[in-house]
This record gives sequence, C-alpha cells and structure tokens, in this order.
Amino acid sequence: MKYISTRGQTEPKSFSEVLLMGLAPDGGLMLPEYYPQVDEIMLNNWRNLSYHNLAFEIISLFADDIPAEDLHDIVKRTYTENVFGNKAITPVRTLYDGIKIQALSNGPTLAFKDMAMQFLGNAFEYVLNKENKQLNILGATSGDTGSAAEYALRGKKGINVFMLSPNGKMSAFQRAQMYSLQDENIINIAVDGMFDDCQDIVKAVQNDTNFKEQYHISTVNSINWGRIVAQIVYYFAGYLRATESNDQRVSFCVPSGNFGNICAGHIAKQMGLPIERLIVATNENDVLDQFFQTGEYRPRNAEHTYVTSSPSMDISKASNFERFIFDVMERDSNEIETLWAEVSTGKGFNLSFKLEAIREKFGFTSGKSTHANRLETIKAVFNSDNELLDPHTADGVKVAREVRREGETIICMETALATKFEKTIYEAVGEEVSIPRPDALADLEQRPQRVMVIPNSETIVKTIIREKIDK
Ligand SMILES: *Cc1c(COP(=O)(O)O)cnc(C)c1O
Repeated sequence: MKYISTRGQTEPKSFSEVLLMGLAPDGGLMLPEYYPQVDEIMLNNWRNLSYHNLAFEIISLFADDIPAEDLHDIVKRTYTENVFGNKAITPVRTLYDGIKIQALSNGPTLAFKDMAMQFLGNAFEYVLNKENKQLNILGATSGDTGSAAEYALRGKKGINVFMLSPNGKMSAFQRAQMYSLQDENIINIAVDGMFDDCQDIVKAVQNDTNFKEQYHISTVNSINWGRIVAQIVYYFAGYLRATESNDQRVSFCVPSGNFGNICAGHIAKQMGLPIERLIVATNENDVLDQFFQTGEYRPRNAEHTYVTSSPSMDISKASNFERFIFDVMERDSNEIETLWAEVSTGKGFNLSFKLEAIREKFGFTSGKSTHANRLETIKAVFNSDNELLDPHTADGVKVAREVRREGETIICMETALATKFEKTIYEAVGEEVSIPRPDALADLEQRPQRVMVIPNSETIVKTIIREKIDK
C-alpha cells in the first residue's frame, strides 16, 4: 500500500516512510491511497481476539512493508495489561441511561493519546534500528501531548526527546508527570514564557534547515499517520464489545479538538465497520460544531480561542480536518489546495452544498458543551452512577445525551481520567469527594524531578541539543 498527500504534490510513500513524517513536503497530510475493506467474515473472526491481536489484524492492512512477525511483536509489546491497566485495554461500560463509555485513558499518562503514542514509540524504534538512523524529537507542550510522547519514547534506542514547556504554567500533576522521568534520553526544558513562546522556539529551530538536518530534528504531532492508524483499532474494539452480531450498528461520540481521534473513526466507517453516526463534541471553542451544523469552516486565531476547563480541546484550527475534507471532496487535491489557501488567509470556507453528504454518507453530526454543561454532567453522572468523569469526557456525554435517537447505541470515548483535572471535579461535586487515582501514581508529586529552567531563547535550546548529541 502506498500513501499519498492530500495536496497531491508528493511522491507516493511506504508505511515505514510516512511513519517518520510530519507534514508532507507539499504542505498536505498523508493518507493511504485507498481504505482497505472489511467484511462479515473478518468481523466475525475478530470478535474474540485479544486487543493486540485485533491491532495486528487492522494495522497489517495498512503496514504492508513491515514483516508480519515484526509487527506482531510490536503490538504485543505495546498493548499489555501492564501498560494499560487491564486486559481488555479499552473496556466498555454502560451508564444508567444506556449511554456507553469506552475507556481509552488507562495508559501511563491517563489520557487517550497513550493509545497511539505507545504504538508510535515502539514502531519508531523498530524502523530506526532497522535503518540504523537517529531521531531527535523536539516538541512544545502545554501538558498532555508532551507527556504522552515522553512516556512512549523513554529509554528507546536511537531517540532523544527535547520537550519545551512553559515554566510554572502546568498543573502540579502535569509537571510531576513529565519532570519525574529519569531516563537519559528525555530532556525536559522549562522555558520562562508561555506555551506560544515554546512553540515559536520549536518553529525557529525547524526553520534552520542546516541545524535540522545535521541534528535529525523531528516532531511528534497529531498529524502523524502512525497515530491515526493505531486509533482506528479501538473503534473496532469498541464496536465488537458493544454488539453481538454484525447487523447491529453503533454510534461514537468523540470529545474533539484537532480532529485526530474522530478522523480514525471516519476511516473505520469507510473501511466498512457498521458505524451509524460519528458525533463530534466540542467545548466553547466550537469551530467544528459550527462546521457540522452549517457547512461553514471559520478557523480562529489564538486570540479568539478560549481557555476552558476542558483544555485539551481548546483548539480553533483542527490540524487533521484536511484528511476528512479530502474524502468529502472526493479526493480532489486541487479543491484542497483552493480551500486551504482560504484557510491560510484566515478566511476559511463554506461547504454547505456538501452538508447532506457529510450527514448521510459520512454519518457526521455534532454538538457543543460549555463550562456549566460540563459541571452539570459530572455531577449528574456522579449522582446516578457513582463515578467521576473527566471534563472532556463529560462534554462528550452531554452532547451524546442531547443528540441521541430512540434505540441508538452511542459509545462515548473517555479521553482522560478525572484525577488529571481535580480543580474542575471539586467545582462540580464539592471538595469532600475522593477522586480515584491508579495506585502506581499515588506518590507522583513527591518523586524527584529533573528539568532545566531557561530563559526564552532559541540559541540556548540549540546549545542544549548540540551538547547532548555531540557528546
Ligand atoms: C487531545 C485530547 C482531546 C482531543 O482529541 P483530538 O484528537 O485533538 O480531537 C480530547 N480530550 C483529551 C483529554 C485530549 O487529551
């Protein structure tokens, strides 16, 4: 299988090649040239597979240049009870009103990004070792993505991680999570400044082509195809767990920001998984909700993006959206060029004439949730089911309840655990509540931390990278 760019100006690539890529050189995103199809017989055969065997079956449809034995070994080492806290890996439970919750957040950083990042870490290491290459990941994080990357890449051969974070701006839990890692290949750098300053340093280093090439600088962001492919697996796992036979259909409701999670759901549906609807849940940053309601895509800049109590969804320009629109526009790269030229001027575009296809053929719908909705939902579920939802998952449950049709089975994706967002949980249900946390992380904030604090300076970051690598 070959991979092509949504902008149509990049030579087709193999799976191993796209695995190490970010944006395509033409500015587009990489996608398989077709979606492999699944049938009744395959689905039946997959019903009783363990998660890692299911992952093998699905990923091997896309990764045909990795020998089966090696791929099997990678997924077997990735999806273990030890790393994900339970045997089912993404167990599905049912709330009192029939809404189902699929847990994607039992990995090391207690958020769904571990599902893909843990796979990517092992796949990176495999490809780099085989090709005898080195990779230095330089990233900026405001919390979740950086820690998921660090936990996936810690101790991996051939990889160093230089992660910039805004000094003093993350929660105590998030700081402890990243800075307590003692692995030699994880370098935490706290920059005196905001998240945007960290991001600017990363861009500046990337733009220094000589430096970038000499030091093999790369990134791990949510546009990486390896992350999407690993996420397709849990849509199959959720479907197979929530149904008894293949004539049943289910809908998925997904708390969304960069459109990475639900993009994998879109691909699962296009592969033939019996998905009824894909429901996009947004917070106050409702650019995507607006699109699915009206067909108008009007991305906003940082100034018009709210800081909310579901912070991982505070995004007003969804980086994976282009993959979906490419399919909506029947894979016409010229159309994508035109539409994204409008996005880059800040204007956006109007696809209201495609809205019917988006609803009927692709199955998309949407809804939005606010701070008040979030608190209400956390409280209501605590009262009815005696469990605490994280704020992002609460946004999903709010929207699922709102749009649910008679007889429809909706699986809400649980994208984080409540213990990461204690302040909002206390606000919703009161300070007396005890918020469960996995035993392994009980003493997290007490562990010794390892971090360099530096002024806001690209030069200093480059010096740190040089000293680590030239040594
Ligand atoms: C990243 C994240 C999201 C948003 O997922 P996208 O793939 O960006 O749409 C939602 N919830 C949590 C907890 C996250 O970390």
